[in-house]
Amino acid sequence: MNDLKQQIYACDCTTCKAIVCLVEEKGAILQFSTTRGGRLCELAVVAASGNQGISETDVVNQRRNYAKHLGIELSGATSNASEPVHIHWALNNSNHNPDASSRINIGRAKASYEAGRYFLK
Ligand SMILES: [Zn+2]
Repeated sequence: MNDLKQQIYACDCTTCKAIVCLVEEKGAILQFSTTRGGRLCELAVVAASGNQGISETDVVNQRRNYAKHLGIELSGATSNASEPVHIHWALNNSNHNPDASSRINIGRAKASYEAGRYFLK
């Protein structure tokens, strides 16, 4: 387990717990990278939104806030995108679609988009 993963597993906040649940209960395979943390942070905040889901603007703001919480910096066009690119990608390019390229492995979790809100549960 790398340092970032250890830190997340040791934290009691809702968002960190959402990641642990994704990995341990849903079987997602996520990369715990401090240099390319955008995807992890974004999936985390959407998963943490649970049945409420989360709006597009909230995804981006909360992704950035969560990165600060973890003490990592989101840099580059993808990691720090001003659009919810990671969860958007997960809608059609997860392990549930065998034809997708660059798949995000979210295990048994499903990503969805409904009435302007993203869900990952
Ligand atoms: Zn936390």
